[in-house]
Amino acid sequence: MDSQSYVIESSSIKSSSEKRTYDVVIVGAGAAGICAALSAAAKGAEVLLLEQDSALGGSSSLSAGQIYMGGGTGLQESCGQDDTPEDMRDYLLRSAVSPACVDKILLYAEESKEHFDWLVEQGLEFDPSFLGVEKGNRPKGVEGLSYTGSEHAFPHREFSPPVPRGHNVKAPGRSGEQMMRLLGLTLAKSDVLVESCTSAEKLIVANGKVAGVLCRQGEESSAFYCRNGVILATGGFQHNRQMLEKYCPEYLRCFPLGGEHENGSGLLMAQAVGGLLMNMDQASVLLPFGEPRELVKGILLDKKGRRYINEELYQAEHGRIAIEKDEPIYLLLDSSVTADPEFPFPKVFESESLIELEKLAEFDAGILRHTIRVYNQYAETGRDPVFRKGEQWVVPLNEPPFRLYDLSCNSTPYPFFTVGGVATSVDGQVLGEDGSCIAGLYAVGRCSVGLPTPGYSSGMSIADATYFGRRAGSKAATSKLP
Ligand SMILES: Cc1cc2nc3c(=O)[nH]c(=O)nc-3n(C[C@H](O)[C@H](O)[C@H](O)COP(=O)(O)OP(=O)(O)OC[C@H]3O[C@@H](n4cnc5c(N)ncnc54)[C@H](O)[C@@H]3O)c2cc1C
Repeated sequence: MDSQSYVIESSSIKSSSEKRTYDVVIVGAGAAGICAALSAAAKGAEVLLLEQDSALGGSSSLSAGQIYMGGGTGLQESCGQDDTPEDMRDYLLRSAVSPACVDKILLYAEESKEHFDWLVEQGLEFDPSFLGVEKGNRPKGVEGLSYTGSEHAFPHREFSPPVPRGHNVKAPGRSGEQMMRLLGLTLAKSDVLVESCTSAEKLIVANGKVAGVLCRQGEESSAFYCRNGVILATGGFQHNRQMLEKYCPEYLRCFPLGGEHENGSGLLMAQAVGGLLMNMDQASVLLPFGEPRELVKGILLDKKGRRYINEELYQAEHGRIAIEKDEPIYLLLDSSVTADPEFPFPKVFESESLIELEKLAEFDAGILRHTIRVYNQYAETGRDPVFRKGEQWVVPLNEPPFRLYDLSCNSTPYPFFTVGGVATSVDGQVLGEDGSCIAGLYAVGRCSVGLPTPGYSSGMSIADATYFGRRAGSKAATSKLP
């Protein structure tokens, strides 16, 4: 990964390359890039949006279209759910894994309510209905609001009142696709110029500043220059094997989410001009065992047959801990729980007897029986004093046959996406090693670091991409390069 491959001096560009100049040039037309473009254009800037694919939307259009918003949004109010910026801030700070972007968390908690209004102005729709916590994180119907994190689970519920903040875009089919379709319609009505099938390959620098991007358009090379700045909105790097090997090899055994364009091109371009990469070992990794929600009545066991976690926590917290543990993990159910996991975790053992199950799973003799005895003793009264699982999920597991599912990542790779990226100010300006801004360069969405950390709640990535994309667009629109 030679940094020279991603940067070129303006004076070295062949005169045969076509040359065009705009106020703001944005690379990547996912949620972050489109929101940056809309807000830059709203400030009166001449904006060019470049997209390597023939269609706009990126991984954002493949997503579930959940957006983490709160602090008292219109949708929360319509659903009778009280929230404040302070409660949202406390949850975000507590659930984030260090080192988190605290300045971004504080600002987003403060402004999230207003961001909801902005997204509605851009055409997004949310049904004023609420999916109860007992029904899970992801609506099968049109419910606009749901819990998408661990707000309701111990220990989080002790520190800030549990409030649902997952805003689900109303859609006939996949919400992410609809979200990007609606943003695309608003984009089409704006003055933003779009060039698709255009792949950015190098940042152009002139006089020590970022002055544009050199792109490939089919066989042609085209140079697009900017008066104000270039905004990189190219997504993460989970599809770049070389970068995973270098920064976070533990995720090589996981399943990379999103389109193959999430190959780190934006990060490499930013790094080539001195941009600082941060939290490159971090990812949002999901252990999706809790769908259907009834499965939370089961218990999770480590390789010795001991319980190790509150099963009610959100799947990203399960994923993070499972990757750290890096050992076999099982889900134990009895016949009172009839559902099977939706995610294809294999059922590996089934038996009428716990003694036999201990042998089959090679747990030390007596450990599983002890685990179940202690769990059932308290479950008779609906309590879980050990991990404090919510009482609606605590029922005795005493109806054979018992079955064990193998939840190990090595048997069924967990889905993940990277959350490390380019360090930026709250306005998306790319920061160098010394903390100063790199003139003319911005980064947003998953090619930057922002709200998402391994302590992820669903919706944080699109929240971050849309909100900080917007801010970077405004900033770049109003900041001429000297
Ligand atoms: C199945 C699935 C479900 C998900 N569900 C949710 C959810 O409900 N809520 C949530 O918050 N997150 C969710 N995520 C994660 C989330 O979708 C992404 O992290 C987020 O959409 C990233 O937005 P982005 O704008 O940064 O990148 P993208 O949406 O990926 O956009 C990047 C764009 O840049 C283009 N591009 C890349 N490199 C170049 C280049 N060199 N030149 C030109 N163009 C380039 C790409 O083609 C792409 O269009 C989900 C992801 C998946 C895959």
